[in-house]
Amino acid sequence: MPTPMPPPMADDARAALEPRAVVPPSAAARPKESPADRKVRTLNLCAVIVPFLGLMVAVWFSWGTMLDWVQVWIFTGMAVATAAGITIGYHRLATHRSFEAVAPVRYLFLALGSMAVQGPIFEWAGNHRRHHQHSDEAGDPHSPNVDASGTWRKGLKSTLAGLWHAHIGWLFQGHSKGLGRYIKDLQADPVMVAVNRQFQLWVLAGLLLPALLGGLITWSLTGALLGLLWGGLVRVFLVHHVTWSVNSVCHLWGTSPFRSQDHSRNNAIVGVLAMGEGWHNNHHAFPTSARHGLRWWELDTSYLIIRTLSILGLVRAIRLPTRAQLAAKKRTRAAAGDVNAPALTDATVR
Ligand SMILES: [Zn+2]
Ligand SMILES: [Zn+2]
Repeated sequence: MPTPMPPPMADDARAALEPRAVVPPSAAARPKESPADRKVRTLNLCAVIVPFLGLMVAVWFSWGTMLDWVQVWIFTGMAVATAAGITIGYHRLATHRSFEAVAPVRYLFLALGSMAVQGPIFEWAGNHRRHHQHSDEAGDPHSPNVDASGTWRKGLKSTLAGLWHAHIGWLFQGHSKGLGRYIKDLQADPVMVAVNRQFQLWVLAGLLLPALLGGLITWSLTGALLGLLWGGLVRVFLVHHVTWSVNSVCHLWGTSPFRSQDHSRNNAIVGVLAMGEGWHNNHHAFPTSARHGLRWWELDTSYLIIRTLSILGLVRAIRLPTRAQLAAKKRTRAAAGDVNAPALTDATVR
């Protein structure tokens, strides 16, 4: 059943989806921490520490025992489903609106994304649109390359500090101020409003579902506990770090075959692990493309799922760059492989 077109986007949201305008550092300085930021920081601290503790307990629990295939399958199924919720639901559908989907499909993928415990969809999309608008300059919430004032990080120590900041550190800094103006178009979709409100419920469901599966399949309390550990906490830990690697690794190491206004990189390892999201230079060059693996060998399982859903009639209006658009942004072979190549100036991009 076709879905109605969403209302027009607010200017800030649109700016985040299109090639960004140049913003002077002073205008894009990181906002001060508010009480709302403090609350988010505490919740994020729990979301980082609890899955790590779960991993420790799971390893201790399973040490020296045979591989439990029931838990392997529960872990794998939950990891793939919730990672797809982030890549397809949170990122490509909601944040970049790179395709349209019927309401049940929107609901399903956003609920699965919520189970990944990376924050409610509006907060996630707002931060990510802000990242695209200010990528690798002041105002970017998680650039590994510049500090809060927009100053470029130099040297090994600074690179490691940037890596930490982009991977985890940024979760403990204030970002909520002004986020609302990035998500006005999303707030007009009743499906997104509902899933955003139900975030905590879906986090709980993401922990109870694998426990239930483990308990029912093995018909034991131990099976339920192992299901909670592996399919719940360890899975959250893994999907967290894979997603965060897109923010950290993919702005530091890899190739940049396309011109973008930042230091985004295609990283094959993250590309495969993150279901296509590691082709991050492609993504920054063409933010509204539903397909991130733009060349035949760039495995993009998220796009394969989107294509399958379109064949089934559940997804439509898939946005892809044309041949001419791809050719217009292609960099030379020498520049594409040089990770130390300086950022393109805005004059070059235009
Ligand atoms: Zn990026
Ligand atoms: Zn994006």
